[in-house]
Amino acid sequence: MDTDPQQEVREIVGQVRAHLERQQELGLDRTDLRWPQPATPAPAARPTLEQVRTALGECTRCKLHTTRTQIVFGVGHPNAKLVFVGEAPGADEDAQGEPFVGRAGQLLTKIIEAMGMRREDVYICNIIKCRPPNNRTPEADEIVACQPFLLEQLRAIGPRFICALGGPAAQTLLRTKEPISRLRGRFHDYHGIPLLPTFHPAFLLRNPSEKKTVWEDMKLLLRHMQEA
Ligand code: URA
Repeated sequence: MDTDPQQEVREIVGQVRAHLERQQELGLDRTDLRWPQPATPAPAARPTLEQVRTALGECTRCKLHTTRTQIVFGVGHPNAKLVFVGEAPGADEDAQGEPFVGRAGQLLTKIIEAMGMRREDVYICNIIKCRPPNNRTPEADEIVACQPFLLEQLRAIGPRFICALGGPAAQTLLRTKEPISRLRGRFHDYHGIPLLPTFHPAFLLRNPSEKKTVWEDMKLLLRHMQEA
C-alpha cells in the first residue's frame, strides 16, 4: 500500500507537537529536541578471584570437560605483582588441581626462587583451565571458551607484570602468531600491563642450554619490577 506523504508529514508534526507539549508540562523552559542519550556504561567493578572461580563453575563450555579430572584454576597471591601464565594443565596438574606442580612446575618454582621470591608471592595460572588429552596444544575453540575467565582472573589480581611462559601463552595474550623465539626477551603491552614472554619450563627440560636465555629474561623482569 502506498503511503500518503501529506499524511506522513501530519503525523510527524503531531508527534513533534506532543513532544513540545510534554516539555512544557514538565516546566522545561528550553526545548530539548535531542534523542535520549544512552547512559555511559560505568567501568565494570573489579571482580575478586572467588567471584571469577564461582562464575567458571563446573565448566562445560568446551570439550575438555569430558576428559579432565578437575579444573585447574590458578594458585598464589590474590594481589600478586607478578603473574606467570602457562599453557595448560598436564597430568600432574589435572590430578592435583594446581598449576605447575609436575617436572616443568618444579623448574618454574626454582626460577621463582632464584628471583628471590616464593610461589606464594606470585600468581600462577594457564591460558586454559583443563588438561588437553595427551597434553596436546590447546585448540582455538578451547582457548576462546576459557579466555574470558583468564582475562577476569588477571583483572581480579591486577598485577604490575605478566610473564607468559611459552608460545601458546604469549600468542594468546598478545593475539599474534609470532614465534616465541621472536617474542621473548622484550616487554609487550597487555591492556596496559607490561608482559614479558619467555620460553616454557618444559622447553627448558628438553633444551637445558636455553636456561641461561630464560635467566636473562628473568633478570630483565626483575630490573623492571625493582624500578616500578
Ligand atoms: N605446563 C603448563 O603450561 N602449565 C602447567 O600447569 C603445567 C605444565
